Amino acid sequence: MLSYQQPDAAGHFGPYGGSFASETLTHALTELREAYARYQNDPEFLAEFHSELKHFVGRPSPVYHAARMSREMGGAQIYLKREDLNHTGAHKINNVIGQAMLARRMGKPRIIAETGAGQHGVATATICARYGLECVVYMGSEDIKRQSPNVYRMKLLGATVVAVDSGSKTLKDALNEAMRDWVAHVDDTFYIIGTVAGPHPYPMMVRDFQSVIGTECLTQMPELLAERSAEARQPDAVVACVGGGSNAMGIFHPYIPYEKTRLIGVEAAGEGLDSGKHSASLQRGSSGVLHGNRTFILQDENGQITETHSISAGLDYPGVGPEHAWLQEIGRAEYVGVTDAEALAAFHYLCRTEGIIPALESSHAVAYAMQLAKTMPADQSILVNLSGRGDKDIGTVADLSGADVYDRPSMRGHGVKGGPAA
Ligand SMILES: *Cc1c(COP(=O)(O)O)cnc(C)c1O
Repeated sequence: MLSYQQPDAAGHFGPYGGSFASETLTHALTELREAYARYQNDPEFLAEFHSELKHFVGRPSPVYHAARMSREMGGAQIYLKREDLNHTGAHKINNVIGQAMLARRMGKPRIIAETGAGQHGVATATICARYGLECVVYMGSEDIKRQSPNVYRMKLLGATVVAVDSGSKTLKDALNEAMRDWVAHVDDTFYIIGTVAGPHPYPMMVRDFQSVIGTECLTQMPELLAERSAEARQPDAVVACVGGGSNAMGIFHPYIPYEKTRLIGVEAAGEGLDSGKHSASLQRGSSGVLHGNRTFILQDENGQITETHSISAGLDYPGVGPEHAWLQEIGRAEYVGVTDAEALAAFHYLCRTEGIIPALESSHAVAYAMQLAKTMPADQSILVNLSGRGDKDIGTVADLSGADVYDRPSMRGHGVKGGPAA
């Protein structure tokens, strides 16, 4: 077994990670580090965390043998970790519960968050409603236009959504604005970050909260595999999509010591890794500092962040969690790309073959697993993290297919797209 202890006390994963933040945030970050150090192994904190995951989220999420898809691929058996079945429809709720519990213990009644597609915003608004915390979500005005159902969800849950009009009016601009808010309100405000990025301790803390995913798999997989062969084992490969990298770190981390299990992160290759239109920070980026940590980022020769692209808003981020940069460097994890078209094909395939509508983000992992399975024998296995469900994406998919989500007579003439021209 590989021994792996990361990060160091200052939050470094090799040369990556650390804490690059303004003077004003030094105190807030120290306070957060101390609070997390105090509670991370506290039995009462952990008992409450796991009780919330069980009763509010619906954990443990099942692992499902995609038997029909495996048979059609004609190779390795494909298993899906069903994070799509969690309350709010994705893995993000695991992490926000942990951070909101910390906020309460630290006596911070006001929560801020940033969101791109709106999934992290919805998860944060959800837990704030449950705990009676004030919730302010920053979102680029471009994203607000593209993701209106999630904006309305946040409002239903009682959150204030603040439109960010600077820069490209998307996720990275919302992040900058959230940081500015935090600087101005450090005393009463807790900043809930939605992925394994940001200054120390966020990448470690978010990883730890999300590691419940992989920890469950460590007992679920041997049970499932024992049904097929005498010796209970772990999967031969674990595959997850990588945006900021939290669902991937959550399933990878408990598997790091199991050297026989390949860990494969799938980045959004958009229109192709060499098209200039992708979000593949690990495969096409270089070392730099973004949002408080050193990691791999997509930048031009002057260090300016370049435009990213992906069919899935959740993968559309110009950086990646620092621990992934380190796992790539030491060779413990591999990173590959899947294009928009491949992800879309996998989306439709999973709908029709297994009766599961996956998130477009997760469809990237499914697409790679389908390719990989064909190269492996039938007695081997691949575990895919199905990070979320695709309900939020049906509009995108319908637009791309030239179809109409609201093709119902009762919706016609009510200002809903697809009705007769009024
Ligand atoms: C946000 C999101 C992602 C990308 O975020 P990571 O931090 O890389 O996990 C992936 N899948 C779904 C369903 C998401 O909502």
